[in-house]
Amino acid sequence: MSFKLAIVGRPNVGKSTLFNRLVGKRLALVDDQPGVTRDLREGEARLGDLRFTVIDTAGLEEATDESLQGRMRALTERAVGMADACLFVIDARAGVLPADEVFADILRRKSAHVILAANKAEGNAAEAGVLEGYGLGLGEPLRLSAEHGEGLGELHAALAPLIEASEAATDAEAAPVTDVDVDEEGETGAAHAPTPARPLQVAVVGRPNAGKSTLINAILGEDRLLTGPEAGITRDAISLGLDWAGTPTRIFDTAGMRKKAKVQDKVEKLSVADGLRAVKFAEVVVVLLDAQIPFEQQDLRIADLAEREGRAVVVAVNKWDLETDRQGKLRELKEEFARLLPQMKGAPLVTVSAKTGRGLDRLRDAVLRAHEVWNRRVSTARLNRWLAGMVEMHPPPAPGGRRIRLRYATQVKTRPPGFVVMCSAPEKLPESYRRYLINGLREDFDMPGTPIRLTFRSQA
Ligand code: GDP
Ligand code: GDP
Repeated sequence: MSFKLAIVGRPNVGKSTLFNRLVGKRLALVDDQPGVTRDLREGEARLGDLRFTVIDTAGLEEATDESLQGRMRALTERAVGMADACLFVIDARAGVLPADEVFADILRRKSAHVILAANKAEGNAAEAGVLEGYGLGLGEPLRLSAEHGEGLGELHAALAPLIEASEAATDAEAAPVTDVDVDEEGETGAAHAPTPARPLQVAVVGRPNAGKSTLINAILGEDRLLTGPEAGITRDAISLGLDWAGTPTRIFDTAGMRKKAKVQDKVEKLSVADGLRAVKFAEVVVVLLDAQIPFEQQDLRIADLAEREGRAVVVAVNKWDLETDRQGKLRELKEEFARLLPQMKGAPLVTVSAKTGRGLDRLRDAVLRAHEVWNRRVSTARLNRWLAGMVEMHPPPAPGGRRIRLRYATQVKTRPPGFVVMCSAPEKLPESYRRYLINGLREDFDMPGTPIRLTFRSQA
């Protein structure tokens, strides 16, 4: 029995677009039996290594009259009843509308598992709408762009534990899968380790010949391979499940492994695009550099992309066995790193030799630590004591003689950490003040390297 996911939400939020993206051409119309309406569609979806059935409730007109609203409600309830979980889609550009609240109500009452997705979240215009989504009380909205294919990695991460639990439930009693942070009172540093059922997702990216496949083979050794190469995210990328010194891990490899798998096709040309795709599916991205030619344009591009996608990043400098002046080289690398990638301040830089195996333990520690920081939650109380201190030390500017007031701060998400600061005139706060706060968060709450999102919202 295939896991069933219902896509629900008011018209025009992008349900069909998402359905088509997940299902592609594998559409199966299942409603040919007499008596069954044609307004529910089912399709076989593929998302990375996940296979499941999606039920689409699209095809409804905007509900202007009551009968239509009733029909919409009935249809949604039917889909919810058929499904193991629901993907509730809102439009991040439009924000939360009254009709969304109606759906939220139905879902809170009827569905065991709800994943809230704010669609059309590409670009910056959607941030306010995403934040409004928290107000629905269905947890953290996942940022999606069905049209541009963004956020599918997060969707994968949200679905994987549900599907795994449902599969496990067919044999034994299902263990509840708790994946969402609920640790409101958690002290700083409260780490959320991945549930055992869900492997740590790592992508190794870098230029051709940086040593990606050598590195992955070294990590795998001979005996730790849990699953063989399998076509992953797309036909162009491959993922491997392994036990990385005690941590269940899934590594997404790009060109390197395909080369080893002897599927020779335009490896050089595809590798960048592959790397970009792997980044979307990873939690931690290992950017592998060649010590002889570090920080090439391609390396910088992919590191920057990983940061913008909100991934935890670890920079690994490979072929360290070839270096003679290691101390000098390391200093030089650190300087270059700080200069070329200032947005990744404090991200770990680890030297390794994939060939000899040196440094692999340190790499693993750096990856686990980056993942832990990426998942970290700071309690509201601590955050606000901290904010008061920051403001006292360095008050925000006072344009036109009126000082901008920062009212309070709250952490609205993890993976990566995201914060909202309520303030009196967000549009007047200079970028330098945001950087001041982000750097402060990094240092005071020990969150080096991880991308930190900070949004100011208006509250007079
Ligand atoms: P449905 O009624 O919920 O099934 O919505 P549709 O899938 O028909 O999409 C409604 C409109 O939103 C269409 O014009 C889509 O092209 C557009 N749309 C869907 N997804 C996105 C997205 O991620 N970003 C943007 N900007 N538009 C989207
Ligand atoms: P990929 O294209 O990134 O997968 O790179 P490969 O793993 O195929 O490695 C490219 C070349 O670099 C091969 O000739 C490897 O033997 C070599 N290489 C990889 N790692 C190291 C290392 O740590 N030290 C040295 N000296 N050579 C390495």
